[in-house]
Amino acid sequence: MIDDIFCKIIKGELPADKVYEDDEFLVIKDIHPQAPVHLLIIPKKHIFGMHDATQELLGQAMMVADKVAQHVGVVEKGYRLILNEGEHGGKLVPHFHIHLLGGKALGTKIVK
Ligand code: AMP
Repeated sequence: MIDDIFCKIIKGELPADKVYEDDEFLVIKDIHPQAPVHLLIIPKKHIFGMHDATQELLGQAMMVADKVAQHVGVVEKGYRLILNEGEHGGKLVPHFHIHLLGGKALGTKIVK
């Protein structure tokens, strides 16, 4: 059975600061925020990463990201979506998720 940290949050076994929830997705605040707004868009179904993801899931995740961006008020000034994949991508949690960052000017550098 897969039991990563996001599965535990989805099952209610670990606390999280929830921002949005529907049948398919949970959106929580990142525990180590890198910007004033730092959210994680997480599918409730355990999906490891891009290789498991369907076109439908990717599309839904993007739509949820924009809906939540509107909800938290970062659409007008803008926001950044990040998806870390694999070792070189810096992925830490083995459960598909997209980072939504905003609330300040993030600059033009994607990599420090
Ligand atoms: P990634 O490198 O894309 O796998 O990033 C995983 C993210 O999950 C990191 O930004 C962590 O700060 C965040 N994170 C880890 N555990 C928790 C948690 N319990 N609640 C919220 N965010 C978490």
